[in-house]
Amino acid sequence: MPELPEVELARAELARWLEGARIVGASSDDRIVLRCSPRTFASRLTGRRVRAVDRKGKWLRVMLDDGTRLFSHLGMTGDWIAQRDPVRFERATLEIARGRRRTNLRYADARRLGRLVVSSEDIAAWSALGPDPLAEGIDVDRLSEKLARRKKRSIKEALMDQSVLAGVGNIQATEALWHARIDPRSRACALSRADLRAVARGIRWTIARTLADLRKGSERWQDSDVNPFVVYGRKGEPCPRCKTPLSRVMLGGRTTTFCAGCQRRAGA
Ligand SMILES: [Zn+2]
Repeated sequence: MPELPEVELARAELARWLEGARIVGASSDDRIVLRCSPRTFASRLTGRRVRAVDRKGKWLRVMLDDGTRLFSHLGMTGDWIAQRDPVRFERATLEIARGRRRTNLRYADARRLGRLVVSSEDIAAWSALGPDPLAEGIDVDRLSEKLARRKKRSIKEALMDQSVLAGVGNIQATEALWHARIDPRSRACALSRADLRAVARGIRWTIARTLADLRKGSERWQDSDVNPFVVYGRKGEPCPRCKTPLSRVMLGGRTTTFCAGCQRRAGA
C-alpha cells in the first residue's frame, strides 16, 4: 500500500503537471468515482484551471479555480501517470492543457481500492484527519493533548490513529519509535514532552529517509526483495544500535518490531 512518502511523491508529480494548467477533458465510468455520474465527473472538471495540489495523510486534493475539489486516494495500487496513450488498468483520465502543450493524466488502479471524489467542499474523510506531519509539521503540545485523551492505548496505536496525525502508518510508527528509543507498548498518555519531541524527530527522520530513497529512483519497496527499513520486518535480526535481537509484538492487530534492549517503556 502506498504510504505517506509514496503519496507525497505522487502529489509532487501531480502538482508539476497540474498547477496552473487547464483541464480540457475528463472521463471515468468506473466505480472508484464516488457519488457522481460520468457526465457530472466530466462537466464539473472540464474547463477548470488547477490552483493547487495538496496532500493530507494519504489523500490528495486538487483545488480548481471555481472552488471545486477533486479528491484522490490511491488505495492499494493507484497511480497517476502522464502519458499520451492509454495505460493498463486505467480508471479515469484528465486531459490537460498548459499553453499549447497537451498531456493526458491517467489514473490506473489494478485492484480498484482507490477513490476519486468531486466535491464543492472538503469531504469528511479529509476534514477528519489530524495534521500532516510533513505538510504541517508536528506540534508537540497539540499532540500531547490528543494523546492524553487516549489513556489506554499504546503509543504505537495512537500514532497510527489518523485523527492524531495524518498518514502515519505501521512502518513509520515502528521506525519512529525505534529512533526515539520508546517501547511501542508504552501508554500514549505516559510519554513526556521530551519523549514526544523524540517521537516527532523519529517520524520526520523515517519520512525523510523513505522520500530520499524514492527520489533516488529506488523501486517501490513493495515491488522489491530488499527491505529498506531499519527495524520494520526484521524480527530476530540484531538491533542496529545495541545488537539485541529485535522482538515482535501485536498491537491493535498489527505486527510491531522493536528492540527490548534500547527502547524503554515510557512512564515505567
Ligand atoms: Zn537496541
